[in-house]
Parts: sequence; C-alpha cells; structure tokens
Amino acid sequence: MDDSGTLRRPLGELRALNLQACVDAADPPSDRAPLDASFKVRFWGTRGSIPVCGEAFRRYGGNTPCIEMICGGRSLLFDAGTGIKPAGVALRERGARDLQLFFTHFHYDHVIGLPFFVPLYDPAIRLEIWSGHLAGKMSTQEMLRGLMREPWFPIEISMCRAALLSRDFHSGDVLRPMPGVEIKTGSLNHPGGCIGYRVEFGGRSVALISDTEHVEGVLDPTILRLIDGADLVIYDAAYTEEELPRKKGFGHSTWQQGVKLCKAAGARKLALFHHDPFRNDAGLAELEALAKAAFAGAFTARDGQTLAIAARRTAQRA
Ligand SMILES: [Zn+2]
Ligand SMILES: [Zn+2]
Repeated sequence: MDDSGTLRRPLGELRALNLQACVDAADPPSDRAPLDASFKVRFWGTRGSIPVCGEAFRRYGGNTPCIEMICGGRSLLFDAGTGIKPAGVALRERGARDLQLFFTHFHYDHVIGLPFFVPLYDPAIRLEIWSGHLAGKMSTQEMLRGLMREPWFPIEISMCRAALLSRDFHSGDVLRPMPGVEIKTGSLNHPGGCIGYRVEFGGRSVALISDTEHVEGVLDPTILRLIDGADLVIYDAAYTEEELPRKKGFGHSTWQQGVKLCKAAGARKLALFHHDPFRNDAGLAELEALAKAAFAGAFTARDGQTLAIAARRTAQRA
C-alpha cells in the first residue's frame, strides 16, 4: 500500500468461524446496497479506558467506545466497548441482518462489550468482523477466540449462532465493505498499534481517530491524510495539554491537538471522544466550551447522540 491508499495486492484474508454460507466481502450481496443517500453517525459509547456510571456522568454517558455509521440505511459499527450492548438491542429492533464491525484495536475498553452483543446469538444475522492493527501478528479470528473463552467468559465464539466472518487487513488498505462505501485506513500512535478510519459515502466523509498519542509540535501526516477536508472528525481527546506531561506514553491525545489537526486539514466538525473516566460532566462541558472557542465546529460527543452528515460537506445535529 502506498501513502495514497492505492491497493497493491488482493485484500486481506477471509476466515469463517461458524460460517454457514461463505460470501466474499469483495463481492457483497446485493441486499447490502444503500437504501438511500443519508449518512448518519450514532455514538453508542464515548468513554475511554473503563465504563463509568452515576449522577456525575449522566449528561455525556459512561459506555466505552462504540460508534455506528449508518450509510444509506446500512450499519457499520466501529469497536465493541460497552456501547455495543445498546447498539445490538437497537439493531435487533430495526431488523438489521447484515452487519459489519471494524476494530481500531483490541484493548479492553474497545472489545469488552462484544460478548453482550445480542446479534452474535441470532442465527438470522451475518456479521463480518474486521481488524488490521496486528496484521501478521494476530488475526481477527485469534482475537475473537481469545476474548470469548474460559476462564474469562463461559461462551466461546464458536458457540455463537450468527454467521460470523473474520476479515484481516493491513494498515493503509482501502476497504469496500458495501457498494458506495469506501474506508481508508492508517496506523495511529498507540501502545500495541491502532487503526484510524476514514469512511466515505455519497461525497461525505467521517474520520475516527482514536486511540492515538501525538508528538508535541508535530501534526501526524497519517492523521492529516485521513481527516483531509472531512465533514466530521472523531478524535481522542482524553486529556488536556496541561495534563499530558503526566500521561506520556499512555497513548492518548488532547482536544487542543484535535483542533490543530482539524484546522490544518480543513475539517468541518470535531467530536471530542474517548473521555477520561475521571472527568465528570462538568469537566467535559468545560472542555467543550474551550474547544468551541478555539474551533467553532468542536463539541463533546455523548452517548446516544446522533449526527446527520448533510450533503455539501456540513454536519448538523439531528
Ligand atoms: Zn481506548
Ligand atoms: Zn487503547
């Protein structure tokens, strides 16, 4: 893969876990075609590191990362933190059958909700699961088998009744999970590796850049490529610049860096994301006000929030 994201080799490997009918994702079934032109983003979990609950976290919520991007009525999920539990219930109620789940990486806060994702246990569901941050070291299937097994969990992934397909890719690959949707990928600076995503649909783009730690005074060229002119950038704003010296090497960034990157890349909106579990609603509201003053398109993402990504490269709250 060169830096422009051009594919030099056939896309990753397809592995079937308990596959009933193998369909190569490079040739998606026709019922995956977009139903309309809408592009929505729903935040099911916005907290980093560990879930939190209680009165002090009521406004922004406490579920760990899970984001749903709904492209033409078809759902793409990103990460399986505790936010994927309510996402699964909502998808079941909507009657969604054909699902895609992309992992940024496998740290606990991004995978711990997976065993409680109800579509896993529904034989009517086809679920394709993608990862790329450990390419050549651990496959998506190995992670799934390791996550769901004794003594950590009583149900093994092979016991799930949904048709599961695991997909492996390399950072820099361009993924085409369904007609009209293109996903660019790149490596982020995080212990153990992490993938940043840019989802493009109908001339609009949303980038998910979490988890990542920036180097002071440097705008990461991979991130700039992924967020270039994006309608919405979802960014790891776990800390502030004042806090960062005490958090060196933790693998996270700041709202100030998110603002700098968005300004440099000409992005429209910035969602502060992966909230520090020690920061309560008042603290997050304070960061939101500071970020907004520096960049008008900035806001603090909250659990349950839905954004409609409007045509002509603007995003509005739904
Ligand atoms: Zn995390
Ligand atoms: Zn992490």
